[in-house]
Amino acid sequence: MKILVINAGSSSLKYQLIDIETEEVLAKGLCERIGIDGSRLKHSPEGKDEVIIEKPMKDHSDAIKLVLEALTDKEYGVIADMSEISAVGHRVVHGGEAFSKSVVIDDAVKKAIEECIPLAPLHNPPNIIGVEACEKSMPGVPQVAVFDTAFHQTMPPKAFMYALPYELYQNDKIRRYGFHGTSHKYVSSQAAEMLGKPIEELKIITCHLGNGSSITAVDGGKSVDTSMGFTPLAGVVMGTRSGDIDPAIVKFIADSEHMSLEKVDNLLNKESGVLGVSGVSSDFRDLQAAAESGNERAALALEMFMYSVKKCIGEYAVAMGGLDAIVFTAGVGENSGDVRRGVLEGTEFLGIKIDPEKNKLRGQKVEISTPDSKVKVLIIPTNEELMIARETAALVK
Ligand code: ADP
Repeated sequence: MKILVINAGSSSLKYQLIDIETEEVLAKGLCERIGIDGSRLKHSPEGKDEVIIEKPMKDHSDAIKLVLEALTDKEYGVIADMSEISAVGHRVVHGGEAFSKSVVIDDAVKKAIEECIPLAPLHNPPNIIGVEACEKSMPGVPQVAVFDTAFHQTMPPKAFMYALPYELYQNDKIRRYGFHGTSHKYVSSQAAEMLGKPIEELKIITCHLGNGSSITAVDGGKSVDTSMGFTPLAGVVMGTRSGDIDPAIVKFIADSEHMSLEKVDNLLNKESGVLGVSGVSSDFRDLQAAAESGNERAALALEMFMYSVKKCIGEYAVAMGGLDAIVFTAGVGENSGDVRRGVLEGTEFLGIKIDPEKNKLRGQKVEISTPDSKVKVLIIPTNEELMIARETAALVK
């Protein structure tokens, strides 16, 4: 069974065609500048050279058509025709409280996803457009929605409620939702496999550290708390996002800098985090290089990032009343031994001990704790596309 995984953004569309039996990626690619001059498709078929197809794509339907043409092309295609695609799995950012699992998309589901637009005004609209474009080009092929928020719907009210007037939850759905759920679910289940224990018996903290970062407490396979909140701005320090700050700062900046609330929101999302503190970059490789060459603000930004992750680990270990494993994943978590060491420095009292040699490994599934470490520390590369393909296959089988 072959599953097409689609991640549609406002002017881009990423895809992977995955053979679910072997879990092999047959082809992947990216449509860029959809609806803008100079649109193009980068298509990478497994075992063949990448091709760049420069063709106008006025909307997402054009993009999907080009993707299907590329996948079935005689030269660089990977399937004979479209009928080999059994189902399409779509990444959908926000499922609100309506979705605690992936679902086969029908009209009612589409309506419910539309109702979540106020919660994710930048992400849900292109996600819906991606679904509709596929429905148009591939009539009759089942479409599945896999939500970033769904895994976190198991959080108890004490974890997801904000101490605001209750009516704001009832009327405006203001609560913690959490994001990166597909990644947290994938790496926590992989961790249980690596440890050879049923996930129901494990308390795991998953650290998804990339441009955007979030930490999740996974107790018995269920998300019981997570660092991102109503939006992905909350939680630990990130590449360009502030993470948690005193909420009163928002009005203070608006007043003192004569900024509109939109501008302050932009500042918190795009000009803050390690970029804002360092003034150097949001990219952790640049930051580490700058810190090594003596840039104090870059060093401070890194320290703040690692300290915020460390504190979150402490919080969740206590919240769960124990800890069996910590997982590091995503760009920074998978690749930076310095960050992992910095995050875990001083946590030995919790029974966490990493092997400095193993910690040098990167981008592979590996245990980096010492044999006598009470808490196992694991690097597990995330694979959201594979998780989406698995969930899609499970629903349409
Ligand atoms: P996104 O949130 O956009 O999916 P990724 O998970 O791809 O982000 O993570 C991107 C981040 O990973 C960048 O800040 C990049 O610098 C960082 N990164 C990638 N490789 C390394 C490395 N070897 N050392 C440190 N950071 C790295």
